[in-house]
Amino acid sequence: MSFKSLGLAPSLIKTLEANNYKNPYPIQEQAIPAILKKQDILGIAKTGSGKTASYALPLLMNLEGKPALKNRHINALVLVPTRELAMQVAEVFQLFGSSFTERIKTKPVYGGVSINPQMKSMMGVNILVATPGRLLELIDNKAVSLSSIETLVLDEADKMLNLGFKEEVDRIIGLLPKTRQNLLFSATLNEAVENINQILLHEPVIIKIEEKEDNIELINQIGYFISEEKKGPLLRHIVESKKYKQILVFTSSSYKADHVADKLRKHKIDAQAIHGKKSQGARKDAMTRFKNGNLNVLVATDLLARGIDIEFLPCVINYELPRSPKDYVHRIGRTGRAERSGDAISMVTEEEEHHFKIIQKKMKKWVTIVDLDEIGFR
Ligand code: AMP
Repeated sequence: MSFKSLGLAPSLIKTLEANNYKNPYPIQEQAIPAILKKQDILGIAKTGSGKTASYALPLLMNLEGKPALKNRHINALVLVPTRELAMQVAEVFQLFGSSFTERIKTKPVYGGVSINPQMKSMMGVNILVATPGRLLELIDNKAVSLSSIETLVLDEADKMLNLGFKEEVDRIIGLLPKTRQNLLFSATLNEAVENINQILLHEPVIIKIEEKEDNIELINQIGYFISEEKKGPLLRHIVESKKYKQILVFTSSSYKADHVADKLRKHKIDAQAIHGKKSQGARKDAMTRFKNGNLNVLVATDLLARGIDIEFLPCVINYELPRSPKDYVHRIGRTGRAERSGDAISMVTEEEEHHFKIIQKKMKKWVTIVDLDEIGFR
């Protein structure tokens, strides 16, 4: 199937081609025609499935040629859980929105930065990509009005609810026009998401994209049994001996992420940490450097790593194991993408051995345990 057969404009297809989008991903094949027809969507899909373009492309098509609204009214609202996702989603809209002669303006807004510039930049916005709390602040300041919205997108709905945004989301939904198109995307379908789905969606087209099994097959999974004190030296050994271009290291807390990155820097390894307690500027800087291949090691917590959108990572390291097997698969899925094999390394302490077994059982794949002598570490 081609993008052309999905009903997208030739100018948009040109931009897709220029950005290496050759053929639509499965979620795009299913979502684009339905969204163009103004149907509601329930999309169960993770980051990496191509979900952003699956709604951005048809939304842009539906807005093409429409005159901009006046008085701080917007056409479409995309609600997202984090600033990183807000920026990334807005970038996709901006990239493809540039295909049209009439400019379609997308603006990301999120908390943690001054509200004033955001308030001033609301004029002529067609698509607003927002985190819930900041959006409500902008509404309370009369900087934006939701009463003309034609389409609402809830992206990563499960995460939004996990982060405790339920009340904010309910309030925002209450401010929208009754008749509108609703698109809900979530990595998982739990009870909380199901509840929102019941209120929000009208005869939705349901799209479920399963995690590709063969993706896991491409990942070279390795485990090292190691004591807590030796994890730092082992990490340095791996960084220095393997010479990966980029390494994403996962820790379970912000404190630990800082600690690990500090230690690496002390040993002259280019490392930065990103987590919820870092300033917006610092996170953006670290993410950009990492993405562009100018930062060797990025240390992140699960929450922040979700927003890292990199086509292929050569190596992911679990400095600490995640609580849930699902998170484990999500973490390691950042390597072995795009039909290239990557390494996923887990450091496992004696106390974690049982938990590591459970993860492997759930994943239905056994990880090769490598003796530390074999890699010259002692
Ligand atoms: P997402 O799941 O929206 O975060 O997208 C994951 C990655 O896939 C992003 O880097 C996109 O730029 C890329 N992508 C999405 N759709 C396509 C496509 N049809 N062809 C090539 N790359 C794509």
